[in-house]
Amino acid sequence: MEKKLGATLKQATKAIHAGCLERPVYGEVSVPIFQTSTFAFPSAEEGAARFSGEAPGYIYTRMGNPTVHALEDSLAALENGRAGLATATGMAAITTLFLSLLNHQDHLIASDCLYGPTEVVIESELPRFGIETSLVDTSKLDAVEQAWRPNTRLLYIETPTNPTMKVTSIRGAAAIAHRHGALLAVDNTFASPYLQRPLEQGADLVVHSLTKYVNGHSDVVGGMIVVNDEQLYRKIKRVLTLFGSTMDPHQAWLIHRGVRTLPLRMERAQENAVRLAEFLSGHPKVTWVRYPGLPDHPQHDLARKQMDGFGAMLCFGVQQGLEGGKILLNNVRLITLAVSLGGVESLIEHPASMTHASVPPAKRAEAGILDELVRLSVGCEDFADLRADLDQALNKIP
Ligand SMILES: *Cc1c(COP(=O)(O)O)cnc(C)c1O
Repeated sequence: MEKKLGATLKQATKAIHAGCLERPVYGEVSVPIFQTSTFAFPSAEEGAARFSGEAPGYIYTRMGNPTVHALEDSLAALENGRAGLATATGMAAITTLFLSLLNHQDHLIASDCLYGPTEVVIESELPRFGIETSLVDTSKLDAVEQAWRPNTRLLYIETPTNPTMKVTSIRGAAAIAHRHGALLAVDNTFASPYLQRPLEQGADLVVHSLTKYVNGHSDVVGGMIVVNDEQLYRKIKRVLTLFGSTMDPHQAWLIHRGVRTLPLRMERAQENAVRLAEFLSGHPKVTWVRYPGLPDHPQHDLARKQMDGFGAMLCFGVQQGLEGGKILLNNVRLITLAVSLGGVESLIEHPASMTHASVPPAKRAEAGILDELVRLSVGCEDFADLRADLDQALNKIP
């Protein structure tokens, strides 16, 4: 639970250096993959001391593993938090967080526009455990205040939201939660810690799908929770270890390799996204573009204040709605038609029929996930190639 790297180091440096073994074995520069399920104790006394927590050291990989621990330290440093808890997937991070913090008859408030499966968990799984939930437009802090109940324990937000790119004030949300003695959790997947650090702005917990920008190569899934508070850490660690949705060492090693280039990838993807947002805004087949970096984005000023950049996710509407969208998706050649995001390759998808198909149509409409909305995860290719690909595919729309 100690900050191992100075908080003063810059993100690009932390991405490369944070999270290493306390005691390197052979002076290795990359953290080895400790592909072992269990760890031998040098003596019976030492085994007992590790179990009681009096001695440090590893016991069993579900309870902790050096390769996984290195990744946890890396993400904690990047988020400027005290400790990280690695999970098998992003959804495992989110459900572990809910299972750790919410009890029967507690109430949760969350953004009304969320990663699809998160919304399904909140709407149809948590009620099975007697947990009350409300989804509100958290970009309007009044709506959060109005939804508050005496038993509200947790405020859960995504900013920017998936896929509508709405931005919620982290400081504002934290102030409301704390005034009521509750906690604020932020899903920071879309921005990544390179561009946004919610703990610095008052959040109590950060969750990530490492599958996206942090790993960045569309080849591994993984998740992470980062916290500042020791008690909170212990509470979640207990649930994570018992319920068992932990990360495995090979997965951790691959993701850690991705972390090291997060700043480079993010800079490049973002530069492409800014230019594509401008290009799309002027395209005759495009009806509107939502990108926090565009001055016409409703929370442009807020995004400028709370983020170090506007990221590389954007969404837009096309002429002829769903039909136009299908033509676009069926005609891109370079850009891949796939869900997920945050990899070096650009991906395009249609939320209403794909990632958010599980959200009831009325709820989708309320949250602004229109049928004509296309989501683009901008990658690190050359800008001219991306622009040409979108242009030729858009021009197929009659
Ligand atoms: C992908 C994603 C998740 C879930 O992560 P998995 O690794 O797929 O389980 C959660 N939140 C957001 C914002 C995501 O994009």
